[in-house]
Amino acid sequence: MRKDDTSLQDNPLLQKTDLPLFDQIKPEHVIPAVRHILSRAETNLQKIEKNAAPTWNDLLKPLEELEVPFEYAWGPIGHLLGVKNSEELREAHESVLNEVVSFSLRLNQSPVIYKTLEVIRNGDEWTKLDPAQQRVIELKLRAARHAGVALEGQEKERFNEIANELSQLQTKFSNNVLDATKQFSLTITKPEDIKGWPENLKQLSAQSYNQENPEDEKKASGDAGPWRITLDLPSFIPFMQHSQNRQQRHELYHAYITRASEGDWDNRNIIQKILALRKEKAHLLGFNSFAELSLDSKMAPDVQAVDRMSQELITAARPYSDADFKDMQKLATDSGQTDPLEHWDLAYWSERLREKRFEYTENEIRQYFQLPKVIEGLFSLVQRLFSIIVEPDNQAIPKWHPDVQYYKVLDKDGKPLASFFLDPYSRPHEKRGGAWMDECLGRRWLDNKLRLPVIHLCCNGTPPVGDQPSLMSFGEVTTLFHEFGHGLQGMLTQIDYAAVSGINGVEWDAVELPSQFMENWCYHQPTLTGMTAHVETGEPLPDELFYKIKAAKNYQSGYATIRQLLFGMSDMRLHNEFNPDGTEPPSEVYRALARKLLPIPPYESEQFLCAFGHIFGGGYSAGYYSYKWAEVLSADAFSAFEEAGLDNAVAISETGARFRDTILATGGAAHPMQVFKRFRGREPSTEALLRHSGLNGKTA
Ligand code: ZN
Repeated sequence: MRKDDTSLQDNPLLQKTDLPLFDQIKPEHVIPAVRHILSRAETNLQKIEKNAAPTWNDLLKPLEELEVPFEYAWGPIGHLLGVKNSEELREAHESVLNEVVSFSLRLNQSPVIYKTLEVIRNGDEWTKLDPAQQRVIELKLRAARHAGVALEGQEKERFNEIANELSQLQTKFSNNVLDATKQFSLTITKPEDIKGWPENLKQLSAQSYNQENPEDEKKASGDAGPWRITLDLPSFIPFMQHSQNRQQRHELYHAYITRASEGDWDNRNIIQKILALRKEKAHLLGFNSFAELSLDSKMAPDVQAVDRMSQELITAARPYSDADFKDMQKLATDSGQTDPLEHWDLAYWSERLREKRFEYTENEIRQYFQLPKVIEGLFSLVQRLFSIIVEPDNQAIPKWHPDVQYYKVLDKDGKPLASFFLDPYSRPHEKRGGAWMDECLGRRWLDNKLRLPVIHLCCNGTPPVGDQPSLMSFGEVTTLFHEFGHGLQGMLTQIDYAAVSGINGVEWDAVELPSQFMENWCYHQPTLTGMTAHVETGEPLPDELFYKIKAAKNYQSGYATIRQLLFGMSDMRLHNEFNPDGTEPPSEVYRALARKLLPIPPYESEQFLCAFGHIFGGGYSAGYYSYKWAEVLSADAFSAFEEAGLDNAVAISETGARFRDTILATGGAAHPMQVFKRFRGREPSTEALLRHSGLNGKTA
């Protein structure tokens, strides 16, 4: 350590400890620690490049070691940004973010490393490696190829130009959507127009009015207005579901579906350019289309396989979607609407029908789901399924908040396998929304010792009030199961190379398999009822409420499925056979599919693609289908347990052992299709998903 680095000795981000020192890390530690790590990593990388010899020990091992200091410093910083955010921390993170990104780009695009990896791939060393090691190398080669490492001269130059331009266009696309969304609002002043609104929408829209009109002396209130409705989803969705003023619903829908399609924020040309550049990029890398490039790093083998899945689901869901529509039309007519249903009526009548069919309140359900009892039920389920024991670890562990719990996971003979942090409750002032699983430390060899994985599970559940435990909504329960499913893949991995252990290296259309698989158990009556106890009476969830929860899951699943497929297929058509230089506008691809699939023709002024941020602003391009693909996998995996008999303890634990040994133990260390086949004995089928969604021609 140099003289001017003395303060580094006390920096908690640079200590060699079992767990990151979450209780000691402060924003002021970030910049010095990260710069220190980066400069050492740069020196080490130069050494690796200089001595690069085509063997695992000379190249891959030092590359793996390069990551370790980042795990103890950069990892915890990212984690704290999510759970203990502050302005100081954000600033510190931002000031070093670019340096970390450039280093990782330089690492992944190093021509020397790429060439040496290729020598390993094509030489004698290859046969000496185990399949997980081979997979590490394949994934590195693939990522480098997709980043253009193999290109030279003019082609390389053009490739970099395209990458730059694409990144600017995608940012511009997203900004246009944001700006166009912000620019519109509808102010409502007449009390008769808020009839039927939920309390929360009244409050939110009065608050929004006050924020926009700070100079008004008289403040808006939830009961007296004025109410300001915007195109942000928390305002837009409840308005469309509850507003009884059809004219206003039409106005709002029009604004929403034509966002960013004209004037200063017109995305139409940007879409055309993005599609053309993506196509050119794919050609430079040797693919026929951008869709082929995207699928090269996914589980789905090719465009045909994705299309086949979509077609099967469409054929099954279409009659249900049409029937859902007829039900809504009937209710509307019976309730006195004389005009046929239009797009701005669907959310409204769908809600009315839902209320009519499944009358229960979230609050009623909550009384049965006490967090400690739900957790107990979850742990006993995974013990039955996977023969593992989960118990609290009461050692003094460095934590970032007193509500955080720390657990260890043991094999049935008591051998430690992993551990995890559970941060269960919402803390809006410092914790981001949603729920997520993240790796704290991956499984790998370190100083000749096997380091076991440590996982973060973060939820935003309802905190306990008074001396009552946290009472969970059903959504919070399924979310906990979902994240725990990701956690299981992180914790039960048997792979010792961090790049492919746990969820690392899993193709992203397969990564939701274990998580959605776990959600299925929330609809298995004995499992669900077993973890309920009414907070006052101690009674388990009554049958009647269970059946309602189960039926509500599949409410309008036909229509929902068709909509998802419409988005997914539009994405695939645009990135596969569509010609961005031709005369047909991209919007026509969407409209043609919408005419074929939806029960009513697309709205005449519709410009849906102009705000389709998933595929033009984010990372879902030629990947939107992944949502459905992963659902097919998880439902099909669960059906293996159904076939064994959900109430047959022996059969369940045998099937569970197979699931653990394949999907959970292998994770990213083999191609997901191979792993799936090892578990299921065949390729995935859509049968189970259709049956679980009530789309298989039988009534449940
Ligand atoms: Zn997930």
